[in-house]
Amino acid sequence: MTTDNNQTLFERASAVIPGGVNSPVRAFKAVGGTPRFIQRAQGAYFWDANGKRYIDYIGSWGPMILGHGHPAVVEAVQKAVLEGFSYGAPTEREIELAEAILALVPSMEMVRLVSSGTEAAMSALRLARGATGRKHIIKFEGCYHGHADALLVKAGSGLATFGHPTSGGVPPEAVQHTIVLEYNNIAQLEEAFALHGKDMACLMIEAIAGNMNFVRATPEFARRCRELCTQHGALLVFDEVMTGFRVGLHGAQGVLGITPDLTVLGKVIGGGMPLAAFGGPRAIMEQLAPLGPVYQAGTLSGNPVATACGLATLKEIAKPGFYEALSAKTRTLVEGLKAAADAEGVAFNVDSEGGMFGFYLMKDKPQNYGTVMTTDNAKFNALFHGLLDRGVYIAPALYEAGFVSAAHSDEDIAATIEAARQIFSHIS
Ligand SMILES: *Cc1c(COP(=O)(O)O)cnc(C)c1O
Repeated sequence: MTTDNNQTLFERASAVIPGGVNSPVRAFKAVGGTPRFIQRAQGAYFWDANGKRYIDYIGSWGPMILGHGHPAVVEAVQKAVLEGFSYGAPTEREIELAEAILALVPSMEMVRLVSSGTEAAMSALRLARGATGRKHIIKFEGCYHGHADALLVKAGSGLATFGHPTSGGVPPEAVQHTIVLEYNNIAQLEEAFALHGKDMACLMIEAIAGNMNFVRATPEFARRCRELCTQHGALLVFDEVMTGFRVGLHGAQGVLGITPDLTVLGKVIGGGMPLAAFGGPRAIMEQLAPLGPVYQAGTLSGNPVATACGLATLKEIAKPGFYEALSAKTRTLVEGLKAAADAEGVAFNVDSEGGMFGFYLMKDKPQNYGTVMTTDNAKFNALFHGLLDRGVYIAPALYEAGFVSAAHSDEDIAATIEAARQIFSHIS
């Protein structure tokens, strides 16, 4: 009998960390089984505590777009570390990163750096309320914007009513100004603005959603969001924490051709270090402290090691042809998965943009959270564990997107498709 080091570590972790993890989805609750404790990673792979290798399709939930341990990034981080971990005073590297971000995201004229996507989305929301002097916000069912109180909310009983908290510890008052709507539902959107438009501070959206599997806003829906915000004086906030520099060099806004007022970034811009950002037009951003009345601050904001990592990452992905190659690779993966499922008679569909993808154990691509959640759980779990056994690590929940990195080889992708084919032959 060999011991399972993952199980041993999980038991040890569970004694001292709630649920044994520091972020809930890592616990494998949705799929069952023992979470893999990762020892190290390189390129497209990581290795668990038993020394088993996995092809990694999570990439730290998006940031590792170059794969793990890219030499240029490692070098930049090593150099930065030797110059000091944190100063609590400004650095030139923060300006360089800000300039690099603004050059690639034309809707942003100024940017503030923070340490997590949650913090960035929460701050963007405060800024939107401060800049408009209004309280109400729209969010969509299935979109995730981090765990600020006002955003941990599900729909109320009707459009005239506001949301209910989805987490313990969030008082109803904290979500009483949040309206939750169905994604891609134009009629609901129009009705909400007709009822509450004059009090609407902002509409926050993942324009390509990656927290309910992979669901795109339709072009008409995205356009209507823009039009209604403009018409009612509300700010359109694109949460691009996941899509920014992931679906393309100019994010979901570049893919859709829509200019938001505020953009929230994270994940890729830190290259695996704790770094996120939010930004927009100068007149709005100047409402932030120390210039304006909207308070926002952070001890580790613009951290010199994190900014070095982010800058080195952005330098690589801005090279010509990067996204063309990444997109082609991702398409090869999802088309291969679909062909394998089709051959085995499994109802299956796929979508992808840049280095982000979704697959669905259903015939049609879902348009909203409700449809995603009709996925056959047992089939998904069989696929997840079958792939895991075969050394392929996908997100341990059917409502998460997947990520391909520049380090994934043709052989990795072929091996993934072959592993999936073997499982499809059992679950059709
Ligand atoms: C990951 C994510 C967040 C939260 O970012 P954290 O760094 O985990 O706090 C917010 N919005 C979206 C769209 C995300 O994918």
